[in-house]
Amino acid sequence: MNSETLVASLPRAVISTLRGQPASDGAGVKLTRVIGQPRLPDLDPFLLLDEFGTDKPEDYIAGFPEHPHRGFETVTYMLDGRMRHKDNHGHEGVLEPGAVQWMTAGRGIVHSEMPEQSEGRMRGFQLWMNLPARDKMTSPNYQEFGGEKLPVVERTGVNVKVIAGSLDGATGPVKQPATDPIYMDIRLDAGVDFALPVPAGHSAFVYVYEGGLSVGESRDAATISAQELAVLGDGTEVRLSGRAPRTRAILVAGRPLREPVARYGPFVMNTREELHQAFADYQAGKF
Ligand code: FE
Repeated sequence: MNSETLVASLPRAVISTLRGQPASDGAGVKLTRVIGQPRLPDLDPFLLLDEFGTDKPEDYIAGFPEHPHRGFETVTYMLDGRMRHKDNHGHEGVLEPGAVQWMTAGRGIVHSEMPEQSEGRMRGFQLWMNLPARDKMTSPNYQEFGGEKLPVVERTGVNVKVIAGSLDGATGPVKQPATDPIYMDIRLDAGVDFALPVPAGHSAFVYVYEGGLSVGESRDAATISAQELAVLGDGTEVRLSGRAPRTRAILVAGRPLREPVARYGPFVMNTREELHQAFADYQAGKF
């Protein structure tokens, strides 16, 4: 017996569940706001989670014209469709299906995110992750990876794309020491059990976007259906069990920052004074 087997794993339980709310953002993009709504304004270090998914061009065609960000990171994960991004520092590209863009806005960027298509399905997620006070004014940075750069872990009835964090020796390419994130896209067959480690103390959630699954120890597992988010309590492991022929879900976790949050729209700082400074700097063209 090695030392690891002496440490009992502690399964995380579901402490609350909620559904996203229909919302409109950018120039009129229809989406579902899951984190960042009245029932769950944030889940430190997560500030926002939007799911966008539609076959109707009128729901996405307006896109997200030029807008600023300061003090946090935006994480875009595309499932279907193509999105062109362009910022005021000369960074531009197209996110293809399966791609992830982990953008550290830091002290400020002004960018646009516009559909690179006029028909067909557009589907994916945008997550906002907070930065600690010491990193809020860091230089803007991008971690961008096409789907083919994301390792996939296969077990019987389970397929996991690793965007951030590690599983079975596969490590996702995204790095962020401040919040030590885990971001996995999980496909699960019915009746299949799957457990993965998540460090104790990390905030964690599971969001189901197709099918359904149960979370937790079998005797008191909670069932989560599509378009539902489960906030997880503390523990060292997340246990999932497929409850539909084909389930797809994201599991996301990160170390909480436990700092004061002053946020207004696309600016997320620690104090009101810093928010005012963000407005002043943006208006003065200093981003
Ligand atoms: Fe943006």
